[in-house]
Amino acid sequence: MNVEQVKAWLHGYQQRLSEVHELLDELDNRIGDGDHGTNMLRGFQVACAQMTEAATPSEAVHKLAMGLLSTVGGASGPLYATAFLRMSQTWREMEEVSLKDLSDGLNAALAGIQQRGSANVGDKTMVDVWAPSVECMLSDPTEHGLLEASRVARQAALNTRQLVARRGRASYLGDRSVGTCDPGSVSSAILFECLAITLV
Ligand code: ADP
Ligand code: MG
Ligand code: MG
Repeated sequence: MNVEQVKAWLHGYQQRLSEVHELLDELDNRIGDGDHGTNMLRGFQVACAQMTEAATPSEAVHKLAMGLLSTVGGASGPLYATAFLRMSQTWREMEEVSLKDLSDGLNAALAGIQQRGSANVGDKTMVDVWAPSVECMLSDPTEHGLLEASRVARQAALNTRQLVARRGRASYLGDRSVGTCDPGSVSSAILFECLAITLV
C-alpha cells in the first residue's frame, strides 16, 4: 500500500461516512448520546483534508490522527486517533506498506485502542471488531486474509447486538444496551471494508 492508496482508503471511508452517519447516530441514539455518526463524519472531513500533502503512508495516518484529535470530542476521537498514531509509528521510514506491515500496523492500533480505553473483547466496543479482524490479518497477511478480515469485522459488528455494554456511555444502560449494535463497532467494520475495497 503506497501513500496514494492510504489516501484512497481514508477518502473512501469519509465518503461512506457521509452515506451512513445518520444510521450511526441512530444506533448511538438508542444506547448513547446520538452523536457517533456526526462525530466521525466531521472528524474525517477535517482530518482527510489535512492529509493531502502527506508524502508517505506514515505521514498520511499521522496527519489524519492529529486532525481527529482536534475535531472529535467524543470517546471515539482519541481512540481512532490513537489507532492511526500507532500505525504511523509502525510504518515510520516506509515508502510502501506490505500486507504484513499493514497487519502489524493494525495490530499496534488495536493495542493502542486497548491501552487507551481498557476495553476487552465482549465489552461491546470497537475492540469487538478490531480484535478478530486483526487476528485474521495476522494469521493470513494476504489479499484473501484482508477480505476475510472485512467479512469477520462485519459479522463481529452485528454480533455486538446481543452484548451488554461494559465500557463507554452505553455501559450506563446496563442490560438495556442489549438489542442494539455498538455504533463504534459498525464504524470500525466499515473502515475494514473500505480497506479491503481499496486493496483487493
Ligand atoms: P461518545 O460516547 O463520547 O459520545 P462516540 O459516540 O463518538 O463518543 O463513540 C462511541 C463509541 O466509542 C462506542 O460505540 C464504542 O465503540 C467506542 N468506545 C467508547 N468507549 C470505549 C472504550 N473504553 N474502549 C473502546 N471503545 C470505546
Ligand atoms: Mg456518542
Ligand atoms: Mg458524545
